Amino acid sequence: MSPDSGFRLPPPVTRFAPAPTGRLHLGHVVNAIYVWGVTKAAGGSVLLRVEDHDRQRSRREYEQALLEDLEWLGFVPDDPPVAAFRGGRCHGRQSDRGALYESALNVLRRAGRVYACDCSRADVFRASGEGAELRYPGTCRELQLPEVPGRGVRVRLDNGVERFDDLRHGPQAQRPLDQCGDLLVRDRDGNWTYQFVASVDDFDQGVTLVIRGDDLLASTGRQLQVARLLGRPSPPRFLHHSLVMKSPTQKLSKADGDTSVGDLRASGLTATEVIGCAASLVGLTDREASLATADVAHLPPLVRLASTLSALGRV
Ligand code: GLU
Repeated sequence: MSPDSGFRLPPPVTRFAPAPTGRLHLGHVVNAIYVWGVTKAAGGSVLLRVEDHDRQRSRREYEQALLEDLEWLGFVPDDPPVAAFRGGRCHGRQSDRGALYESALNVLRRAGRVYACDCSRADVFRASGEGAELRYPGTCRELQLPEVPGRGVRVRLDNGVERFDDLRHGPQAQRPLDQCGDLLVRDRDGNWTYQFVASVDDFDQGVTLVIRGDDLLASTGRQLQVARLLGRPSPPRFLHHSLVMKSPTQKLSKADGDTSVGDLRASGLTATEVIGCAASLVGLTDREASLATADVAHLPPLVRLASTLSALGRV
């Protein structure tokens, strides 16, 4: 569909979805630049979702801090706000959405896809071999263990190829069952897992464009499969962007306490300086000049990605 064909595509809906397990750092600022830049250049809207599915690592202080940092940077999510959040513009935290995840799990149960699993992470680690990531070998797949507290819950994946066209990387083909085995949906501590809740939320919240870092590229095939098993009629589009690295193999990490937006702010930098620095770190601009949130939608690489999106059309 060409942009000038007279047929207007629905504007994209995307999300900024940080986990409140530490302070926001420059990697999150890069993600926010891509999320708001591409979405606004395409005339779409941005939801804010607090991904606190990991109850042991998530903290309300970090949630509060990330809302404040985002507001200070000037990245404003679109309506409808959930008034309960300070700052008033958050579209929900995952820890409040347990009933939704239960009902999604029931859809998979009714399809005969769900089974209880006794394996610990250490068991999976031992059985997994040398691969790039942990692969569950299917130990409990046929055991028909009763689902009781203290056991995990997995979804039986199909042994197929998932294809998608990434806006930056082009056509992709992934085999989720070979990559990670049957997906853990809820762990032995009762935590919903990221792969499951992200797929449920993106479906439930009508997200049509997922913009995130390259570290999550390998997760996309499994999320596409889960979404399809849940009955999602058409998948979202995906854009995976480069990461800010602190060494050739190490990305920035909240857990390691890497320089946070809060530290940069305390050192006297302005929001536009922090955004300008983040944009130049991933080559979105040639030099470290100040950049306002209102201007990220005019960055030429992001305008080009928005035009690629409209040229591809919605799937
Ligand atoms: N919550 C994830 C993070 O903070 C982002 C997940 C996603 O965008 O799908 O890295």
